[in-house]
Amino acid sequence: ILTKPLIMTPGPTEIHEDVRKAMAQDITNPDLDINFYEYYRESCNKLKKLLNTKEDVLILDGEGILGLEAACASLIEAGDRILCIDNGIFGHGFGDFAKIYGAEVVYFKGDYRKAVDVDELEKFLEKDNEFKLATLVHCETPSGITNPVDKICPLLRKHGIISIVDSVSAIGGERVEVDKWQMDIVLGGSQKCLSAAPGLTFLSISEEAWNIIENRQTPIASFYCNLGIWKNYYEDKWFPYTQPISHIYGLNCALDRILEKGDYIERHNKIANGVRKALKQAGLELYPLDGYSNTVTTVLIPEEISFDEIFNSMLEDHNIMIAGAFDYLKDKVIRIGHMGENCYEDKMYITLKALDNVLKKHGIKLNGSLHKYFVDFM
Ligand SMILES: *Cc1c(COP(=O)(O)O)cnc(C)c1O
Repeated sequence: ILTKPLIMTPGPTEIHEDVRKAMAQDITNPDLDINFYEYYRESCNKLKKLLNTKEDVLILDGEGILGLEAACASLIEAGDRILCIDNGIFGHGFGDFAKIYGAEVVYFKGDYRKAVDVDELEKFLEKDNEFKLATLVHCETPSGITNPVDKICPLLRKHGIISIVDSVSAIGGERVEVDKWQMDIVLGGSQKCLSAAPGLTFLSISEEAWNIIENRQTPIASFYCNLGIWKNYYEDKWFPYTQPISHIYGLNCALDRILEKGDYIERHNKIANGVRKALKQAGLELYPLDGYSNTVTTVLIPEEISFDEIFNSMLEDHNIMIAGAFDYLKDKVIRIGHMGENCYEDKMYITLKALDNVLKKHGIKLNGSLHKYFVDFM
């Protein structure tokens, strides 16, 4: 009998039964049914609550990468000087997206095992700050590092630089204060901490960002990635394309689950802290040296074992899926996602118990038991 594994990966995450049922609701024609415009806007309002913003929020029909690319396509013009804040794989990759739209990209490179050093960035910006905008990543999912966007975005704004923040793996797991921290575009995805099905991205757009979009010299070279055409969707009762209504039903329900309980930040803090402490106590080494993420933990793979051995034994013997990483971290680390619906003591306990069993079966010596330490730290 095929049973679905418990997916303890850093996205996609487990989806609650209520969210799956919400997706199965009967649909209307989302372009013609006036009620759907209300429903769409209500869903955006729930996201505004989560993001702590009064600015506009849009939900787009595509995975997180669409949000990232739409922001670049809509704000960047050929020849623009862009700062790419790079302390990881996603951070670096953001620069490549900016280049697609003709940007001249300058990199501020940080230590890949640490959170962005705000003092260093400040020194850098004192020498060079002629940038139209900066791209940055809130949580570097492959390395498990959360960047201090609360300090970086106001610093950028101080120098007149707009920010585009990829918060795909942080929203719903870390605090995000879009207005207070002066973040211009903040984008997320449905399949990480929100624990809805993969397929949606959403973003907040500040007034400054709208100004840039509306006062371009050249037209936006895309239709699907053009944020400008969304500006008056509600007033005009017009969507640029047919809305993914079933996915939005699911997202709306997932947001209710998060907002009604309201304890998601504390829960992510507590579980993440317990996981890290348990792994360290048992003698394993975390990849980050600081800036530990509350949504994903990245652990170096001991020399005596390979990623495939861990992955396969976790899956075959325990029916639990954990992740590796890619690029320069391929085969070097394993990643445990404690995002959204995955971020509960019971799921983490069985995951760590399975990992403890797999490592010991392959002859790795641990000081004590991962799952027992985890319980101690809860
Ligand atoms: C998951 C994620 C995305 C979306 O990318 P996919 O690999 O297609 O899921 C974008 N940015 C970050 C930081 C992510 O974690």
